[in-house]
Amino acid sequence: MNKAVFKAVEDRAGGRCEACGFLRRDLTLDHWEGGNGRRRQHESVETCWMLCTRCNRDRTENDPSAEFWNRIRSAHCDRYGYPYVPHLVKAPVNMAAVAEKVKPRILGDSFGELVKRKA
Ligand SMILES: [Zn+2]
Repeated sequence: MNKAVFKAVEDRAGGRCEACGFLRRDLTLDHWEGGNGRRRQHESVETCWMLCTRCNRDRTENDPSAEFWNRIRSAHCDRYGYPYVPHLVKAPVNMAAVAEKVKPRILGDSFGELVKRKA
């Protein structure tokens, strides 16, 4: 944890959870962008925010939904002029569309041509 980043984020939050907005004593620094061992490279005032224990847990578990947390995060970024990077929202996979994209690459151009002629 970069102490300068932590201090800057803590100062910005001013004792309030940056998601629910309540004055809290249980604030912790949350990394919006990170994970997969790249956490430290992504650690900055723009990618971190102070969250209360409950918001931190809900954010981690996407409770009530990933869309909900993307909206909260988007509003936070708007407020400070930070670039907004949404978390992926799991959507039902359209297997037919995936097959259209993947099959020509797997089976070669002849299959791609076949798909095009049939369409
Ligand atoms: Zn909160």
